[in-house]
This record gives sequence, structure tokens and C-alpha cells, in this order.
Amino acid sequence: MIAVTGGAGFIGSRLAERLVEENEVIVVDNLSSGKKENIPEGAEFVEKDIKNAELDVIFDKVDTVFHFAANPKVNTFPDDRGKDFEENLVGTKNVLDACVDADVEELVFASSSVVYGENAEIPTPETHEIDPISMYAATKCGAEHMCQVYSQIFGIDLTVLRYANIIGPRNQKGVIWDFIHKLEESSEELEILGNGKQRKSYLYISDAVDATLEAWKSPETVYNIGSGDAVSVDKIAEIVSDEMSLNPELSYTGGEKGWKGDVPEMRLSIEKLKNEGWSPEGNSVESVRKTARRLLENR
Ligand code: NAD
Repeated sequence: MIAVTGGAGFIGSRLAERLVEENEVIVVDNLSSGKKENIPEGAEFVEKDIKNAELDVIFDKVDTVFHFAANPKVNTFPDDRGKDFEENLVGTKNVLDACVDADVEELVFASSSVVYGENAEIPTPETHEIDPISMYAATKCGAEHMCQVYSQIFGIDLTVLRYANIIGPRNQKGVIWDFIHKLEESSEELEILGNGKQRKSYLYISDAVDATLEAWKSPETVYNIGSGDAVSVDKIAEIVSDEMSLNPELSYTGGEKGWKGDVPEMRLSIEKLKNEGWSPEGNSVESVRKTARRLLENR
């Protein structure tokens, strides 16, 4: 049996959808950003908060936990630092303690590319030092370390996944969602956070789920998951405007970063997971266009 924390959210629900094809699945989610209708048919749903629920009872018959519940908003630092701490560190400790108490065999933890910080070599391999510059990133690093310590001390088989920007329908945050909203409010202008030159890697959700399942079955502990290339914020603005048949005047808030704690350039090396046989179907530009199109179709 498999438990997915955050299984009503964007990545967790798509993952649960795939897992339920061959496994019994329990979704644990407090619906703070996730939605009940995202949970796939066939999965059991337990509406609980991972910070204080008695998860060991829920994990009683569980062999594998995919821990994806978190405060996923990366651009609200420094205001949300308490929330990052509570959801990502306190929540992860409660999940880990429950894994020990319920004799869970395997844990797959959703970490992030942001752990590498802003001075990382590009493309960034998994062996690179971690150097967080936001509270979200710091709590992801702390949670990774806690997972590694519990894994060593209590013999839990651990996989840590450092995701680039994962995009697709159901993702109600991030730059594509943001641009669509801004353009719906005012179709002739578009304000871009930063100077538009930030370049990051974007991966479509179906590729991300395939990668997650591949990494879970692979022997190493830490895997980057991304598209291997990158796209600028200016290009994303162009794609979204094009998909909406608009030609807005662009304005910039200025500076290299979009917000405090933003990492302006991110491109992960994905060679390690490619060597296990996974490879993304789409690049960053294709993933951005497909996401914009799907989000617009669903409105
Ligand atoms: P999401 O907000 O769609 O999903 C998170 C889910 O966790 C939601 O369903 C939410 O209701 C639930 N949740 C939050 N706090 C909870 C709590 N205390 N108890 C129970 N449930 C709780 O976000 P997502 O984009 O699907 O992200 C999933 C994971 O992947 C997160 O850990 C996130 O940090 C990580 N991640 C996401 C991306 C990305 O680009 N989407 C990139 C890197 C890492």
C-alpha cells in the first residue's frame, strides 16, 4: 500500500492517478491548496494535516510514502517564512516519525531545484553543494537532511527528488498562471517581475510523473528532475500572449530577480536519471506552450 501526502495537489494527484493503476493508494491532504476533485477514483482519502495528525495509524499498512505535502509557494518570502517552517519542517518531521512508528519501508521526498541557490554551476548536477537563499529553499534543505538522517538511523529506503519548475493544468501558481490572470484583467499591458531575463527549466507534468516513478525504482538516493534546457521569462510572456492572441506592452519591475529569494538562473543536469532510462518528451518551450494552452482551454 502507498500513501501520498499532498495527493490532492498538482503533482501529488497526477502521481496518485498513476499509482492507483497498480497499487492501493491513500491520499493524505488537508486541502489547503489541493482539491478533493483532483483525487483519483480508487484512492482512499484521509483529510488530515500532516503537522499534527496521528499519521502512524494511517500508515499502518503502508509500505511506501510519497511525501509531497508542503507550502509550495516560492515567491512569498519573507512574509511566509513561518508557514514554510511549519509545513515543510514540522510537517516532514511528523511524517518521518510516523514512518518509523508504522515500519514504512520506503520514502520518496519532493524537494526542489531551489536548494542549489543562485551561484550553482549550470547545468547543476546532484553532487553540487546546496546553498539556499530563501526560507522555502532552506526548509527543503532541512527536510532533505532530516529524511537522510531518518533513513540512515531507521533503515528507511529514501529517494529525494529535486524538481525544476513542474507545469501543466491543475497548477494554480507560477509564472504562466500569473501571466494569464494579469492579461485577463488587462489585455494591453503585462508587468513582468524582474528584468525578464531570468532563465529556468520547465517540465510538463506527465514527464515529471514518469521521472518520479523511474527515480523511485532506481538505486541512487538523489535525482534531479527537469527538462535539461531553460527558457527566459520574456519568452514565456511571448508564448502566453501568443496563445491568447494578444500583443501587450511589457513593463518590468527591474532587477535580476523576480522577488526576494528568487534564483534567476536554473538548469538542472538530468544525466543521472537519463542513465536510468528516463528522458523528457518535451523541452521547456514546448512544456510552457502546452501548459498555457491547457490552462486557457479549461477556463
Ligand atoms: P500543490 O500546492 O498543488 O500541492 C501541495 C498539496 O499539499 C496540496 O494538495 C495541499 O493541500 C497539501 N498540503 C499542504 N500542506 C499540508 C498539510 N499541512 N497537511 C496536509 N496536506 C497539506 O503543490 P505542487 O506543485 O503539487 O507541489 C508538490 C510538492 O512538490 C511540494 O512539496 C513542492 O514543494 C514540490 N515542488 C513542486 C514544484 C513545482 O514546480 N510544482 C517544484 C519543486 C518542488
